[in-house]
Amino acid sequence: MKIKAPRGTYDILPEEAVKWQWMEQIIQETARRFGYREIRTPIFEHTELFQRGIGESTDIVTKEMYTFADKSKRSLTLRPEGTAPCTRALIEHSQYNGTLPVKWYYIGPMFRYDRPQTGRYRQFHQFGVEAFGSRSPYLDAEVIFLLVEILQRMGLAEYELHLNSVGCPVCREHYRQKLIEHIAPVKEKLCKDCQVRYLQNPLRVLDCKEASCHQAIVNFPTLMDSLCDDCSSHYSMVQKTLQANGIDYIHDDNLVRGLDYYTNTAFEIHIPGIGAQSAVGGGGRYDGLVESCGGPSLPGIGFALGLERLLLAVDKLGCVPELRQPLDVFITVMQDDLEPQAISLLLKLRQQGLSADKDYSGKSGRAQMKLADKLGARYVILLGEDEIKGNFVTVRDMQSKEQFKIEEGLVPFLRARLDNR
Ligand code: AMP
Repeated sequence: MKIKAPRGTYDILPEEAVKWQWMEQIIQETARRFGYREIRTPIFEHTELFQRGIGESTDIVTKEMYTFADKSKRSLTLRPEGTAPCTRALIEHSQYNGTLPVKWYYIGPMFRYDRPQTGRYRQFHQFGVEAFGSRSPYLDAEVIFLLVEILQRMGLAEYELHLNSVGCPVCREHYRQKLIEHIAPVKEKLCKDCQVRYLQNPLRVLDCKEASCHQAIVNFPTLMDSLCDDCSSHYSMVQKTLQANGIDYIHDDNLVRGLDYYTNTAFEIHIPGIGAQSAVGGGGRYDGLVESCGGPSLPGIGFALGLERLLLAVDKLGCVPELRQPLDVFITVMQDDLEPQAISLLLKLRQQGLSADKDYSGKSGRAQMKLADKLGARYVILLGEDEIKGNFVTVRDMQSKEQFKIEEGLVPFLRARLDNR
């Protein structure tokens, strides 16, 4: 039986990997421009971190985690997201003692036992940022600017930014009561999970994935009407800053995050026209998270961007540029006994910064030229008996078909012509 990659995982073959490199380069460069520095955390963590950091009642924690016991019977979990690990690292290394806000980004694989479909995998990749230590609404705007800038630099000018405020624990408590009263008379129409959780956490009904729950609670009271003065002015500052900088958004009362440590700004970004999984990223403020993970009372805000969905979007909308990586030089060897010279020359070219290759399967001269063509080589160096005896090499320009006899200064010659293009 052939062994295949596990369900929900896939290989990134070289033709795809160049797109990943292109995307990651744009992302990292943009993050750098915004003053975010990279953090790399382990792929697995203590299970308890996610139970506390994501929330015991969430779908991720109840249904989707890859949890296992190691040989010492510790419960470990492959990370399903990046915020809890960053928060753990912040606390563990007391990073909040330095300059605030701490601005970090991460990029890497995440793991969720989800139902695989287009745009939904069990191992997928996220880029995310976290900024800890400031309550400024301008910081909320900044992370949104960063997200939008990445999309724009990738050619994704058409996006839908959904925005809401989930208030603070104080104003949310008022809202909770109002929402429970609204839901109680129609509770039979809710999904099984929501029938149980609406009393404890009615906001979860708003972000439930089941359409029946949304249909059941039409005209529900909105959080906007319950925001306290501070939360209300925070939200309007964020909106004003986005407007002043030409970022369109849609206020969305449905966009809630039903956990206590989420506060104020919540946002999600969609790319229309890429199918059912159109949400490419989302984030928001989590002023209670650091404390609930055992750290000091420190506000935070961040987002995560799904990289598979981003690539799906650029592919579908035709935004990927020409990413062929042509070879600078290919060495064609006319006789077996010249292999050692060819290898030494190849090494020299590579050490000088040129991309160079040769054949390793004993092909004929003609077949080697064909291979050079296939690899997109711009120049071919011919090494034959005449060349070795006469102490020169023959260089062929694969486009103009010109040939040159080079006795000295091979690398500067190639460099000058390659730079000229
Ligand atoms: P979340 O951490 O759930 O807020 O997700 C943030 C982003 O990650 C989503 O908008 C998706 O683009 C992406 N994402 C989440 N789950 C998956 C998955 N199972 N497969 C692929 N992308 C995902």
